[in-house]
Amino acid sequence: MKATKKIIIAVDGHSSCGKSTLSKEVAKKIGIGYVDTGAMYRSVTLYGMRKGIVSDDELRTEELVSRLGEISISFKFDQEKGRNTTYLNGENVEDEIRTIEVSRNVSKVSAIKEVRAKLTDWQRHAADEGSVIMDGRDIGTVVFPQADLKIFMTATAEVRAQRRYDELIGKGEQANYEEVLANVKERDEIDSTREVSPLRKADDALLLDNSNLSREEQYDVVIGWLKERNLVE
Ligand code: C5P
Repeated sequence: MKATKKIIIAVDGHSSCGKSTLSKEVAKKIGIGYVDTGAMYRSVTLYGMRKGIVSDDELRTEELVSRLGEISISFKFDQEKGRNTTYLNGENVEDEIRTIEVSRNVSKVSAIKEVRAKLTDWQRHAADEGSVIMDGRDIGTVVFPQADLKIFMTATAEVRAQRRYDELIGKGEQANYEEVLANVKERDEIDSTREVSPLRKADDALLLDNSNLSREEQYDVVIGWLKERNLVE
């Protein structure tokens, strides 16, 4: 299966509802690029934490904004692990950006307008080369309002927290279900109520509630939507 032309697929939705898993599968199946925009916000957050300007009880916004020019983020495909890996200034930070410490701080960093402007610009350039599927919170509303297909994913907070918890335990991380659930709910709240680019479903986005859907079922739904729109053949 392949895309019939250069296409952009926007996948937005709540925290930990499997946006990246689904996006990666679709990208692989139809041979297009995949961009994880959450990894970009997580990388900026990690950078701020390492510099001591972002922590659980501190956010030095002006200093972080003045240092944005020092940050470079790139993705490489890890053949051995069969997945994309995030690099912050040339260093592999794929595991570190997924820790609960970064998760606790990322939403407040993502609410900074200058951070969003910079990352939005990079994200738009990522589509210069060819077709992409991009997941995040504002892809269909702000980054690519002209996307060929917009998907808005959600699931109950409990289902999402359980999935994130299983993922962290699977990676050998320390995790506590209640803490993960509280983090999922807190990020939803901050992401949906922030002033700049809040998380919301674009009017023309298709809703995918996967609380009771398997990976295969969700994937089939999306491939069906792509076929209906003649975006794949
Ligand atoms: O997708 P992921 O859960 O890794 O995203 C981490 C955080 O990054 C989100 O909770 C949100 O605060 C922020 N984010 C965003 N806009 C995007 C992608 C992620 O604000 N396009």
